[in-house]
Amino acid sequence: MRGSRRRAIIIGGSMGGLFAAAFLQRIGWEAHIYERTPDDLATRGAGLGTHDALLDNLRALGIETDERLGVLVRDRICLARDGKELARRTLPQVMTHWARIYEALRPLVDAAHFHAGHNFSGFREAGTEVVARFDNGAEVAGDLLIAADGLRSTVRPQLLPDVQPRYAGYVGWRGTVRGIDLPPEYYFGLPGSEMMLTYPVPTGEWNYVWYRPTTERELADLCTDASGQCHGTAIAPPLIRAEIAAKLKRDARELLAPALANIVERSQPFFQAIFDLVSPRVAHGRVVLMGDAAFVARPHVGMGVTKASLDARCLAHSIELSKNLDEALARYDGLRREFGTWCVERSRSIGAYIERRELPDPVWVLEEVGAVRAGIPISF
Ligand SMILES: Cc1cc2nc3c(=O)[nH]c(=O)nc-3n(C[C@H](O)[C@H](O)[C@H](O)COP(=O)(O)OP(=O)(O)OC[C@H]3O[C@@H](n4cnc5c(N)ncnc54)[C@H](O)[C@@H]3O)c2cc1C
Repeated sequence: MRGSRRRAIIIGGSMGGLFAAAFLQRIGWEAHIYERTPDDLATRGAGLGTHDALLDNLRALGIETDERLGVLVRDRICLARDGKELARRTLPQVMTHWARIYEALRPLVDAAHFHAGHNFSGFREAGTEVVARFDNGAEVAGDLLIAADGLRSTVRPQLLPDVQPRYAGYVGWRGTVRGIDLPPEYYFGLPGSEMMLTYPVPTGEWNYVWYRPTTERELADLCTDASGQCHGTAIAPPLIRAEIAAKLKRDARELLAPALANIVERSQPFFQAIFDLVSPRVAHGRVVLMGDAAFVARPHVGMGVTKASLDARCLAHSIELSKNLDEALARYDGLRREFGTWCVERSRSIGAYIERRELPDPVWVLEEVGAVRAGIPISF
């Protein structure tokens, strides 16, 4: 099917959408991205760990993965409240920043094919074509509709109305801070049933994530702004009430090693509620789900961007290998369900102690989080 100049309509212009467009272009497809956000996404994002599969997929698209992409951290070190080292394991990993990858991918898609400010509202299938509709009244037709529109996908409920993200019972507080004077390693703090981790990213900042058990009622409070309005399960960082950020910093001083508490105290913290999402099918007629629209694994496996890149590569590879689109989408569906399920189960097993509010063994945490990197069942 190479070179047949088929057209893909991709909903969502973040990592998944960009990887999908880039891999489909390489097999001769015309790929158009429709992203609801009107401004540049590169100004957002924080740190993330890379996996070999992600680096391999970037190289397959002609992107160099040299030392500019990330910071190599060698050791994982767990620090006790008094700053003493509780455990250490050598598990080298390149840590990068979301914007580094986004900025490397964005130029691969022709500006004329990236339609910002388009909020997808629905689709219909017409023969072998799919027609997508947008809030601004625009309609576009293509051979394939790709839902790369994230955890709160607008496409998915039209296909799988009963599939909902499941709240894991904890949130990840996050932030990035400059001017931290620590040897560049990957540090953990494990107060109670919580998990705090921090590592350097190539922007010169330190990125941290602090997972804290949070009931649904507490989450609703965290998502309530100073005027009393509750924003659901997520709130824009500037709307987080000052007393909530102040309490996090007090807790950091009380619960974490001084070097780790210092990072939290100097940050402008924001948070992300942690969800699991499993889709029973990811190909439906001429519509496919990918990235976070299809499966969301908790961040303990650090797989969000890697999984999106593998989904995209698998889609293009399946089309290349198959006699027709139906056969290609059936292959894609089988491989992605298997891989997405593995990611979700692996991440659940690491986060289970936080959800159940149990005390972890520090060595187990370092080894489990590190072992994910070696055990990924790559498939595309
Ligand atoms: C701005 C931003 C920053 C991020 N930063 C980090 C980070 O620092 N570390 C990390 O690990 N992960 C981060 N993520 C999440 C990470 O990108 C995903 O977990 C993973 O890469 C899968 O990507 P995705 O493209 O499937 O989903 P997402 O990255 O969630 O992207 C979904 C995209 O779809 C768009 N969209 C949603 N609904 C519609 C609609 N109706 N019409 C059109 N467009 C729609 C959204 O605006 C978004 O751009 C970030 C995501 C975003 C959007």
